Amino acid sequence: MLEAEFGVPVSVDNDANVAALGEHRFGAGQGFSSLLYITVSTGIGGGWILNGHPWRGAEAMAGEIGHMVIDPTGPLCLCGKRGCLERLASEPYIAQQADEWLRDHPDQGSVLRTLVRDSKEMINAQIVSQAAAQKDEVATKVLERAGWAMGVGIGNVANLINPQRFVLGSGVTKAGDQFWQVVRRVAKEAALPEVHFDIVPAALGDEAPLWGAVALAEDLLS
Ligand SMILES: [Zn+2]
Repeated sequence: MLEAEFGVPVSVDNDANVAALGEHRFGAGQGFSSLLYITVSTGIGGGWILNGHPWRGAEAMAGEIGHMVIDPTGPLCLCGKRGCLERLASEPYIAQQADEWLRDHPDQGSVLRTLVRDSKEMINAQIVSQAAAQKDEVATKVLERAGWAMGVGIGNVANLINPQRFVLGSGVTKAGDQFWQVVRRVAKEAALPEVHFDIVPAALGDEAPLWGAVALAEDLLS
């Protein structure tokens, strides 16, 4: 439809795939021919670059790390399965877990309670990160659990495909050092000792998909 309307070549892809391409071509993935970009926000998505090119899979469903099952006995995910990475580590669930923990442990989480002024509506992943940076015990537990789930997912993916680098984008890049330490430690524990990779924050932030769109356009014209 866009080609018919504008009379120019058009290329279309989903947000995680173009973000992966953007980071590969212009951001934290430059110089790495194999990487998985993971975006953490309301959900968790992923995009592969393999041998320097996007890898979309047979039905354009490759890279959906958000619905990798981390804990088959875990809580129910929107997709209908239990214990998906997205259900354990996406931003709305980080906020929900913090809220539940505060409710069940009235004597804990004083920093977090102060930051959200005791209002359930104000709890979000950014505030939980902020509270964890100030050593709040509830926020720390919740972020560690999310980091653990992310680490297990990344370690398993590393064993399967052996990419050089994982690039984590979106809100999670602003989570404090604690979160990153847990992700990196658990991912190394879950992966075989012979499987080497690093895990770095995205460099292009919210603009990664836009830069990826630029890369798609460049490829159309070359
Ligand atoms: Zn799911």
